[in-house]
Amino acid sequence: MSRARDIPTEDLARGVVAGDRTALGRALTLVESAALDDHEPAARLLAALPAKTALRIALTGAPGAGKSTLLEVLGMHVLERGQRVGVLAVDPSSRRSGGSILGDKTRMNVLARDPRAFVRPTPSSGELGGVAPGTREGVRVLEAAGFDLIVVETVGVGQSEVEAASLVDTLVWIAGPSGGDELQGIKRGLVESVDVVVVNKADGERVPAAHRAKAEIEAALRYVPSATTGWSVPVMLASALERTGIAEVYGAIMQHRAHLDATGQLAPRRRQQSIEAFRRALDRALVAALSARPELAVIEQAVASGVLSVHAAVERALALR
Ligand code: GDP
Repeated sequence: MSRARDIPTEDLARGVVAGDRTALGRALTLVESAALDDHEPAARLLAALPAKTALRIALTGAPGAGKSTLLEVLGMHVLERGQRVGVLAVDPSSRRSGGSILGDKTRMNVLARDPRAFVRPTPSSGELGGVAPGTREGVRVLEAAGFDLIVVETVGVGQSEVEAASLVDTLVWIAGPSGGDELQGIKRGLVESVDVVVVNKADGERVPAAHRAKAEIEAALRYVPSATTGWSVPVMLASALERTGIAEVYGAIMQHRAHLDATGQLAPRRRQQSIEAFRRALDRALVAALSARPELAVIEQAVASGVLSVHAAVERALALR
């Protein structure tokens, strides 16, 4: 198989726009690639793709909260409304296994097989399922391919939900019926960035607990300013298993996006996200470039022995460039 970087940019871009799934897969591989040789062709591809504005959302939550199950039914609900769904599922297992497979669970089976949908397991960065640097570009590729709804699914550990929030318009937190307990372990970053909360598994004997979780989460959110000006974060009950509350969840997601549009917050939010992404990438690139310099070890030694202050050492490291 030819490598994505060897395919002429125009052909790849044309294939993506035409909805060719092979081209789409290759384009995603190219923009997700960390290989230096891929950076140039990836940049050319992104420049050749038309700019479109899909609805971008992230689903986050603890492992087992029901993200995949909910995404499957939410995705089917959206397809039934005549829209197309693209999913980037950040796969925490992919680093360990070396590949990018969706684990042993038969996750998102129906959605993944539907020709109107595209489900892509993307490798995570770091050991905790963080969002990989190329995921932002992956969203752009799916947007250019004409998907109406783009979902980034990420495991709510480490910094991943804050990173995921920086990729999308709407951050959806999937909590379980013990949501109140989950809140204890939840980082402030999530509470501050979330736009829609879903208490999943509100079915059978779990219904009373789900109602309690909803009340507890609402109480906790009352003291936190919403990430979106003028938006009060809804906390909704749903059951992915029984398929209840799904239309309401999608309604809330669309309402949040409509609110961003109506109040002129969408464009500035996306611009700010791009600037932040650039700064993070710059950070990484600087550290990588400097770490490769042998002089850095000498500077480190000088810091270790107290000859050089940390501040002076940073100045000296920067002067290496
Ligand atoms: P993820 O790790 O967040 O993606 O969670 P999964 O979607 O894999 O679901 C974890 C477990 O919870 C599975 O056994 C699901 O069948 C179950 N589950 C998911 N949604 C519901 C729900 O709405 N109700 C109930 N009772 N179980 C659910």
